[in-house]
Amino acid sequence: MTGGIRFAGAWGGISQIEQARMAKDDAHPLTYRVYFAAMGRANRIGHAEFAEGELRHLLRRPDGTLRSESSISNAIREAKGKRLIHPDSGARCLVLPSHHFQKAGKGSAVCDAHGIRWA
Ligand SMILES: [Zn+2]
Repeated sequence: MTGGIRFAGAWGGISQIEQARMAKDDAHPLTYRVYFAAMGRANRIGHAEFAEGELRHLLRRPDGTLRSESSISNAIREAKGKRLIHPDSGARCLVLPSHHFQKAGKGSAVCDAHGIRWA
């Protein structure tokens, strides 16, 4: 799927900047912060890549301390369990299925973490 957005059904637009901001907001449960992080960064194939340790840093506590690796992976697992993100997701790339998220215009269509290269 490289040919832009297929808007069958009821679709609306979201601000990825706002989603990325919400990912850092501790007012939201960690599981949903994972989801917001995916929504805020997803590219044209629905993949949101993070550098080593970047997601953990993004999901830090309000006082700036980092959460344990296991609390991050638990939140990712729970987000998968709620079907907020695709089962292929991990700390290096959160994936949104195309029935859930599509994007056209700006953004890449590759994912190094999953070895996907449409170009
Ligand atoms: Zn990926």
